[in-house]
Amino acid sequence: ASDKEKAGNVAKIKVVVRKRPLNKKELAKNEEDIITIEQHSNSLTVHETKLKVDLTEYVEKHEFVFDAVLKEEVSNDEVYRETVEPIVPIIFQRTKATCFAYGQTGSGKTYTMKPLPLKASRDILRKLLMREDGKQQVCIVGLQEFKVSDVDTIKDLIERGNATRSTGTTGANEESSRSHAILQLAVKRSADGSHSKPPRVVGKLSFIDLAGSERGADTTDNDKQTRMEGAEINKSLLALKECIRALDNDQGHIPFRGSKLTEVLRDSFVGDSRTVMISCISPNAGSCEHTLNTLRYADRVK
Ligand code: ADP
Ligand code: MG
Repeated sequence: ASDKEKAGNVAKIKVVVRKRPLNKKELAKNEEDIITIEQHSNSLTVHETKLKVDLTEYVEKHEFVFDAVLKEEVSNDEVYRETVEPIVPIIFQRTKATCFAYGQTGSGKTYTMKPLPLKASRDILRKLLMREDGKQQVCIVGLQEFKVSDVDTIKDLIERGNATRSTGTTGANEESSRSHAILQLAVKRSADGSHSKPPRVVGKLSFIDLAGSERGADTTDNDKQTRMEGAEINKSLLALKECIRALDNDQGHIPFRGSKLTEVLRDSFVGDSRTVMISCISPNAGSCEHTLNTLRYADRVK
């Protein structure tokens, strides 16, 4: 099969939902787990408790179906196999691919995303070593670009990137919930096998740990800085959704100018690219509204 046909076997857009387990705090408060999952049918139900006008409680069920729905006991290795592993081979076929984690703060985005680029760079380096030409390189690109040839270097870079992100004065989670973290692995190859011409990017795999989705709603906060950040996050999450939808519809015009985030990712939104979105959700009753917002966003993308 041609490269194009091979790339064609991987869905253009895949939407996966991952539920995290109840944490100690939620268990201590006896919080209810309101998410049930039917893995075989890739469906998930949110059981929302509501009040009638006479203040009696009733449960409203919201059912969603996605490409894959992962229960709380699913490991990070399984998440990798379900999401990124299938797209690693196609970045050797000039394809750009992007993997996002979306969800409210505390839903497991970083827990999910952190190991993925590392697992992918093994896989990528191993594939490179198996190739005869040996002229390809892997780079970690972005605001800073590094040429890498072994997994340990990549590990260090990822650790450094995550450390930078969480050294805000306001504390780790606070800082990471207000920013998007982007890590891109690029495979480059010199055109004629010599070093006379600069190597060209063959394919690229991007990992995005998005800002907390609830931050986009911070647009009415009293603090001006928070309000401005909330507006930018809101804009970027909306633009992201529009770009992914445009990709799926093979629309000629991709609205990547809608935000800084989508502009940075513009080369991943043109041509024959692939997107995996991992929507992370918290299981507790107290997160119901945010969870429904996350699932509705994911539903629009799929
Ligand atoms: P986010 O990045 O969305 O704000 P985190 O990834 O930091 O959330 O997760 C919040 C907390 O929950 C962390 O302590 C993390 O270790 C834990 N956690 C998240 N997902 C899981 C999971 N699938 N299994 C076990 N613990 C998890
Ligand atoms: Mg995080």
